[in-house]
Amino acid sequence: MKDFELKFSGLTVGKHQFNYEVTKTFFETFQDRGIEGELIHNGKVAFDIELDKKENLLVFDIFYNGSVNVDCDICLDVLDIEISGDSRIIGKFSDEDVWGEEDVIYIPPRDHKVDLSELFYQLIHLALPSKAVHEEGKCDPIMIEKLKEYNGGEGSSNEASDPRWNTLKDLFKDKN
Ligand SMILES: [Zn+2]
Repeated sequence: MKDFELKFSGLTVGKHQFNYEVTKTFFETFQDRGIEGELIHNGKVAFDIELDKKENLLVFDIFYNGSVNVDCDICLDVLDIEISGDSRIIGKFSDEDVWGEEDVIYIPPRDHKVDLSELFYQLIHLALPSKAVHEEGKCDPIMIEKLKEYNGGEGSSNEASDPRWNTLKDLFKDKN
């Protein structure tokens, strides 16, 4: 994605600052491409990068902060999740076309710039909690009633914290 390209050729050896921000169109683009991941409806995340350019290596210190909208795992209503974190990514010059090695990106030796959009997408997903749920009592009450009916009306009024309920939810999720 053009907005997330970082042009490193021409930079002097040493540290340089870059700032990016992902918004709704960013998530829509990934969704349209059918890229795997939690469905993110909207969001706004700022990425501040300190690039340390070495003779034959790029060191990206990435700080990110913002929020994204996902579906609540329990009531399926929209949930706003705050995310923040930092990560050090090493850019190695190589013709290898893989993103396999953790925290390393490979840049073809003749390239002048690197597209960071996929990296940002991955960092956002890594920052998401394994379970995205509303605070207790904040779930959509109508949906909770429906789910209760669907599950045979079992359970008390606080299924959200009932471990048996969570297990059921997991089973349900895995089938999709
Ligand atoms: Zn909820």
